[in-house]
Amino acid sequence: MILNKKLVKVVFVIQLAFLPCSILGQNKIVDTSIHKLVQEQTNLIFDSLVKIRRDLHMYPELAEQEKRTSKTIALYLKSLGLEVHTHIGGYGVVGILRTNKKGKRIAWRTDIDALESNHPDVVNFLSKNKGLRHICGHDVHTTIALGMAKVLTSLKDSLTGTVYFIFQPAEENWVGAKAMIDDGLLNFIDPEEIYALHIAPMSEGIISTKSRNPYADYKGIEITLKNTEEKDTLINYTKELLLNLQNIAADSKFWDNRNLLDPNIGLGSPNTIFKDYVTVNPKITVKETGNEISIKAYLSAEKDTQLELTLRQIKEKFQNSEYATQYIDSKFYYETALVLNDEKLTSATLSAISDIYGNENVLPLYGAIPDGRGDDFAFFQREIPGVYFLLGASDFEKGIVSMPHSPSFGVDENCIKSGVNFFSSMILERLKY
Ligand SMILES: [Zn+2]
Ligand SMILES: [Zn+2]
Repeated sequence: MILNKKLVKVVFVIQLAFLPCSILGQNKIVDTSIHKLVQEQTNLIFDSLVKIRRDLHMYPELAEQEKRTSKTIALYLKSLGLEVHTHIGGYGVVGILRTNKKGKRIAWRTDIDALESNHPDVVNFLSKNKGLRHICGHDVHTTIALGMAKVLTSLKDSLTGTVYFIFQPAEENWVGAKAMIDDGLLNFIDPEEIYALHIAPMSEGIISTKSRNPYADYKGIEITLKNTEEKDTLINYTKELLLNLQNIAADSKFWDNRNLLDPNIGLGSPNTIFKDYVTVNPKITVKETGNEISIKAYLSAEKDTQLELTLRQIKEKFQNSEYATQYIDSKFYYETALVLNDEKLTSATLSAISDIYGNENVLPLYGAIPDGRGDDFAFFQREIPGVYFLLGASDFEKGIVSMPHSPSFGVDENCIKSGVNFFSSMILERLKY
């Protein structure tokens, strides 16, 4: 997960209220016997998974340098008897579970890289790689995926179809997903659906997401104008035009991050205030280059289609203004890798997990989380329909807060168990349809 710098300051630690899951649709009757087996298998391997997580945590590796991590992954997958492919798009690894029975093809993607951090670790299994730490939870993501591979392999005789486990390097710099695809990943696997998770600062065991984009679309816009003697009025006009695109009042509760999880106006409420918004970062930069003026600003929007529309509106406003002849161009020069969940799959998977593990574990989002978060899982979603889940890993009573990229990032390791259970069961249910 990449965060806009200012997000690191976000205090996102309020314990979630359990909310009714009306978005989940009608309850289907799920055969729970196979899911009981999932939970038994997960319980059996849980201690060994914690050991793996702690080992990965002690040897974090930066994006594009995940040599040891990928070796650990490949060895584990081989020990399960899976077909294993290594060195895909760098240190990418893929494990393929073939049931040799006709059925669906489902992919689970996990990211494996760590980050630079000189802050001391909050656990006693300290990083042995100086200046590097797993503070985005990818050690936990990797462990959950390995656990899922083991649990689903143990149930292979009951499954149909194929499950692909994709271990992607270099998420933090948004290189790895593209690199794996460019390296021919989709020539030897052909998933019909793809899923992933990210640790999030909700209570341990809560999963959350929404159809389309769970994170706001975040783009940098650049407007290029002809430089003239009357440039000051032109610059002021442009700044005002940009600032007026924002539809959130300065005194709105929107700006207080504590409201993100408020039961009435937060992301989990149908009446959320974190919906239909456009924001404009007031730090607008102006640069004169020769005969041209470049004006740049960051915009964000809840709807994934909104900012393209906004760009067209800017163009039209200029063309209909007294500055029409000075207007040259406007374009996006920066954008996040926008996670875009398939609507039907989001609803189906949240329903399945809710039916098996209970509504109290599932928090559908009605609005998008503001600011510039993204995940290059987005590049897989452009090829294959899929869903990106957030998995809570905080234990507020113990002071464990799983806020990605924060120096004190920590996880309640029970989230490994929750993750393996929820998403092994979810894949089992998807293989049926
Ligand atoms: Zn990250
Ligand atoms: Zn991350």
